[in-house]
Amino acid sequence: MGKSIFVDLTRCTACRGCQVACKQWKNLPGEETRNTGSHQNPPDLSFNTIRLVRFTEVEKAGKVQWLFFPEQCRHCYGAPCKAQADSIDDQAILQDDATGAVHMTPAIMKIGGQDIKDIQGACPYDIPRIGPDGMGANKCDMCFDRITNGLKPACVTACPTGTMNFGDEDEMLKMAQDRLEEVKKEFPNAVLGDPDSVRVIYLFQHDPKQFYEHAVAEAATPMNRRQLFAALRGSRHGSRRG
Ligand code: SF4
Ligand code: SF4
Repeated sequence: MGKSIFVDLTRCTACRGCQVACKQWKNLPGEETRNTGSHQNPPDLSFNTIRLVRFTEVEKAGKVQWLFFPEQCRHCYGAPCKAQADSIDDQAILQDDATGAVHMTPAIMKIGGQDIKDIQGACPYDIPRIGPDGMGANKCDMCFDRITNGLKPACVTACPTGTMNFGDEDEMLKMAQDRLEEVKKEFPNAVLGDPDSVRVIYLFQHDPKQFYEHAVAEAATPMNRRQLFAALRGSRHGSRRG
């Protein structure tokens, strides 16, 4: 059991309310930005920007179309980042048994050099961002302080369109599957992003790789990703329906 987030990308308008709410709740400083010829701003996730609305321009039926992808940590079952961090300090990344949220602790800030790069590299979604001085890393923690006090994550609370949904794992998975069936009538190639592996389930109306190269996972290690998750799922942290 635990909590999940369902992200219905067919409803996202790229208003960036979630991005701003994340910054506000986490008290994270703004980025110095400049026009890069894209609406995406800032251009990437960073140590201080742990939630980002990605904009991609594609051509569909001879017309330009924007794809919007509000990105964050997926809170993987048997999180690979945690598995990697455990070999250095098993308190640096924790996975909460009750909610499944994967969160970094202050201990992560004592890890640097190749060790922190290896933790970052273990993520199949390229999420953690290393600190400016090469020490530590940061990422979404599912608003752990809010969800353990009966609140929804700040991004979900701020979203005005129904894109972001938060609740019990089974409820969110069912919502995602039901919505997928509905969306497929208009978008036959619609898919859910890795629903068996993550707690943040995206509904993509087009090929996920069109939204972002790391939108869905690829084998990041010699071990097949399904094997990896299956092995980790059996571990004491974050087991699905455990
Ligand atoms: Fe860790 Fe990456 Fe999974 Fe988030 S998405 S829990 S950072 S492996
Ligand atoms: Fe999309 Fe909702 Fe975020 Fe706005 S607040 S960018 S609609 S996910």
